[in-house]
Amino acid sequence: MLSKLGEITVMTEISTFNQGKEQPIKASEIDPTFKYELEKLPGAEKIFLCFQCGTCTSDCPIARFSDSYRPRTLIHLAHLGLRDRVLNSDTLWLCSACFTCTDRCPQNVEVDSIIRVFRNLAIEKGYIPQGLRDQTQTLLETGYVSKVPESRIKKRETYGLPPLPKTNPQTIKKILKNIPFFDRINQTTATATLPQPQGDNKNDSQ
Ligand code: SF4
Ligand code: SF4
Repeated sequence: MLSKLGEITVMTEISTFNQGKEQPIKASEIDPTFKYELEKLPGAEKIFLCFQCGTCTSDCPIARFSDSYRPRTLIHLAHLGLRDRVLNSDTLWLCSACFTCTDRCPQNVEVDSIIRVFRNLAIEKGYIPQGLRDQTQTLLETGYVSKVPESRIKKRETYGLPPLPKTNPQTIKKILKNIPFFDRINQTTATATLPQPQGDNKNDSQ
């Protein structure tokens, strides 16, 4: 629905995607080439086959417990050419890569692969949630993705558990040094933050 020249009132599912607030789409946001670029990338070749049935969202275990994560909507936004809304989406990083959506899609769209392609493009643009930056930094420094506090290490001893395995951060750095993601970790354009799943929303928009 056109509200004024160059601005479109968004549909219900996109409003839901933006935490219930209507977010008018400006014509300048639309990049009609985006979907054609995606179609050429390994994993996203079938993006045009999506007919927006909503099965992926209905069966997605993350969508069930999130107010905002909707794989179908991410694909819809990509079809519309809303490159930045997809790549800078704070929900993009919630997918657990469980493949349920791909198994259930009646069009054989590889939804989980499309999400992976979105994430790779997001990283290229520096849209990396702070949580992932922190985990990566910790991995490079300690060999673990999360810092293990001294108190927890001592608690293991009181329970009679063996010490944590030794890591070798230097080897990890050597293995990972040619992956562009690690170069981009220190760039400053991150805006996405990881939202927390909130309750069972099975009946929400698909
Ligand atoms: S299940 Fe397949 S066709 Fe249906 S909305 Fe999801 S990706 Fe599109
Ligand atoms: S792979 Fe991701 S989008 Fe697909 S069902 Fe699992 S969590 Fe949901």
